Amino acid sequence: MPASDPRPALVWLRDDLRLADNPALTGAVEGGRPVVLAYVLDEGRQTRPLGGAARWWLGRALADLSRAVAARGGTLVLRRGDPAAIIPALAEAVDAESIHWNRRYDAPQIAQDAALKEALKAAGRTVKSHNGTLLHEPWTVKNQSGGPFKVYTPFARAAQQQPVRAPLPEPSTLRFAPAPASEALADWHLTPSAPDWAGGLRATWQPGEDGARATLTRFLKEGLAGYAENRDRPDLENVSRLSPYLRFGNISPHQVLAATRHAEAAGTAGAKDAAKFVAELYWREFSYHLLYQFPTLASANFNPRFDGFGWASNAAHERAWQRGRTGYPIVDAGMRQLWQTGWMHNRVRMIVASFLIKDALVDWRRGEDWFWDTLVDACPANNPASWQWVAGSGADAAPYFRIFNPITQGEKFDPDGAYVRRYIPELARLPAEAIHKPWAAKPDVLRRAGVTLGLTYPHPILDHATARERALARYEAIRG
Ligand code: FAD
Repeated sequence: MPASDPRPALVWLRDDLRLADNPALTGAVEGGRPVVLAYVLDEGRQTRPLGGAARWWLGRALADLSRAVAARGGTLVLRRGDPAAIIPALAEAVDAESIHWNRRYDAPQIAQDAALKEALKAAGRTVKSHNGTLLHEPWTVKNQSGGPFKVYTPFARAAQQQPVRAPLPEPSTLRFAPAPASEALADWHLTPSAPDWAGGLRATWQPGEDGARATLTRFLKEGLAGYAENRDRPDLENVSRLSPYLRFGNISPHQVLAATRHAEAAGTAGAKDAAKFVAELYWREFSYHLLYQFPTLASANFNPRFDGFGWASNAAHERAWQRGRTGYPIVDAGMRQLWQTGWMHNRVRMIVASFLIKDALVDWRRGEDWFWDTLVDACPANNPASWQWVAGSGADAAPYFRIFNPITQGEKFDPDGAYVRRYIPELARLPAEAIHKPWAAKPDVLRRAGVTLGLTYPHPILDHATARERALARYEAIRG
């Protein structure tokens, strides 16, 4: 930076709420330029509004980041409204020499960024976008004919052959320019008050960069060994729970990948466990790859054949599913875990999604929407891609005849019923052999466990075997 040019760089933070390994921030401070950091709560209608649980996470993560910035002598400038108006106004107010951000991959956000870039450039400012969210930009991973991949395995193989940059340290030369006034985070009402439904979320999570680091450290120490074998067990603690941190960029995939490789090299992680965990990070990459090539991922069937699928509209079934009152314990435990903590184990996500789509025949988009509202990790790529995967309508989807049996899935992946007992206390005293199918238990077994079906816990809302046949018939009808 020339000594005569003290103009600051403006960093517009979005899904990258962290100071370490933040390429936009590092790019902005290059040469010692002072920075202004801003976050805009987008209340325009071009982009999908965040759901309730994600808003809670965002509020906590912004509070955490504001504290971290204040501890370094700066201010995180918070503004609410349309970024198309706010960012140029902020750039003008501080006379920013350059504006930096990390890219996003949802079509409306891409359009928003492209338009802003033009407007800022026309006003004579430099705009630089960076990659802080993905290991590989979606357009850089191509198949042999130069097109995008539609199947995970060759995608992951090709992507993993590409280099991944090392994580960047937090800039040591962070200097802050005088910042314009910030709105008060409390005025945004991101955390619910009447009613305050976030008690379970507060008890479960520590949003922000420190929480992310602690979660990663604990996972590498205690969860990764055995990940390959036990990642499907919701009763065990072998998964990382990093998803909301990755979603809001409290940690980057580069940091997670590098730490995993480091643990592997140090011998604290086995090669098989590390490879399986990295493969999951690449499922996230694949979802973004799909979102980028198919912008309507959350609203349209990837496979248009599904446009003619005969979805049922059964409000009572849908409501029972949302509340964890279907009468199938593994489904209900998952839905209650989601409601209480804003998160659900991956295996159980697949089971509950299969139940809604294939047993209750509810359109996958209604389930995606419920998850969007209730997950702290609700992700524009992973959520719709996974729902389409379960529905069979997606790219590289589960075959249509794969209909999860909620009883055998429960028995296999929660063999002692510990997970069900944790989230459905009214079934806690049932023995393991009855816990995944209480309706089949002998009356005295139920009596001893204090369970009265239809009173303390629901009868199954549908018969899985019959529902399965019905679903197969509907799927056959669209196979052509
Ligand atoms: P780990 O097993 O520790 O994996 C590490 C990271 O890899 C995760 O944090 C995540 O970023 C990524 N990952 C793991 N599994 C998958 C997967 N199957 N697909 C894509 N990425 C994966 N994930 C979200 O982040 N947001 C969502 O909104 C979301 N919705 C889903 C909806 C359904 C119906 C299903 C079946 C899955 C969904 N997933 C979603 C994927 C997966 O369930 C979660 O990423 C995972 O459970 C998060 O827990 P974890 O961080 O402990 O995962």
